[in-house]
Amino acid sequence: MSAYWSDFVKTLDPYVPGEQPKQTDLIKLNTNESPFAPSPAVLEAIRQATADQLRLYPSPESDRLRTAVGRYYDLPADHVFPGNGSDEVLAHLFLSLFRHRGQQILFPDISYSFYPVYCRLYDIDYQNVPLADDFSVRLQDYLAVPPESVCAVIFPNPNAPTGIALKRAEIEQLLIQRPQWVIAVDEAYVDFGAESCVPLIKKYKNLVVLQTLSKSRSLAGLRVGFALGQPELLEGLVRVKNSFNSYPVDRLAEAGAIAAFEDQAYFEQTTGEVIATRDALTEALQKLGFVVLPSKANFVFISHPRHDAAQLLAALRANAILVRHFRHPRISSFLRVTIGTKKQCETLIKSLSEIVS
Ligand code: PMP
Repeated sequence: MSAYWSDFVKTLDPYVPGEQPKQTDLIKLNTNESPFAPSPAVLEAIRQATADQLRLYPSPESDRLRTAVGRYYDLPADHVFPGNGSDEVLAHLFLSLFRHRGQQILFPDISYSFYPVYCRLYDIDYQNVPLADDFSVRLQDYLAVPPESVCAVIFPNPNAPTGIALKRAEIEQLLIQRPQWVIAVDEAYVDFGAESCVPLIKKYKNLVVLQTLSKSRSLAGLRVGFALGQPELLEGLVRVKNSFNSYPVDRLAEAGAIAAFEDQAYFEQTTGEVIATRDALTEALQKLGFVVLPSKANFVFISHPRHDAAQLLAALRANAILVRHFRHPRISSFLRVTIGTKKQCETLIKSLSEIVS
């Protein structure tokens, strides 16, 4: 620990991302990336932008991207706030909307592990609301918290790492009953079969939805995510963004992201394949005795009654397959497995059947 660090930096406990191994022959099912390449139209758009636009600064307002995303979701461009991955958008959201003195934000005890990291970084008070016994997010428990002590709620839908999704109608009830709270729905994994809250944005001024191109559009390496909400809410994020870096998305990312939203056929084909593979993998895992939580995401969360998860993780690693294990006591018997290609998932099942038999 450096003597030059401030006392504040010494208290930080940063987010630890999933392993990005140097070895290239591994079956990588540990960080919820897409197993498919981006659309060929995306690659072409990036090539074009490299040749034509790279000497120019990007647009500080990302107008073209905001218009394209808005068009896709039937929203005006001023309802879209893009950033360098949804992690960056989340950072701006936490700082601009969640930092109310004397009030807390609420999020599930088991959800995206970046949330508590941002809370510590920005000195935001938070309360974890435990998941129900079936590992679902139970919104009644949020309504039971004294409303005046809370300024916002955030949860992923589908939740991570469980994969379990709430219905839009349930989330709408929370929006109706707590109009004074900001309700942030992190839809990083929504495109794999869950109901999006985007259609509610025009109706509720306290709703903000976060999405990313990292999963369903195969662009984790490009770093593009965005928030959708009414302009009055997003204005807070714009203020924070302009205090950090007024170019939220670089020119290559903007060109690639626009092209991704324009290739609907590729999106439907690749997400459809992930969903079909997930369903087949779920069945095969259940046959091996695994408990598989009902997933609407591009991963499954699994546990075996007779096998220790950390040992399974190590045994798979020895077979060149990477999956993810979390140390939180409530879920330490589970592994999170990203949906790979059909062939990768068959190799996984073969390997697991040898390990658990
Ligand atoms: N939200 C959730 C729930 C996630 O799991 C992730 C991916 N780790 C993100 C947001 C961030 O995704 P990205 O920054 O790649 O857009």
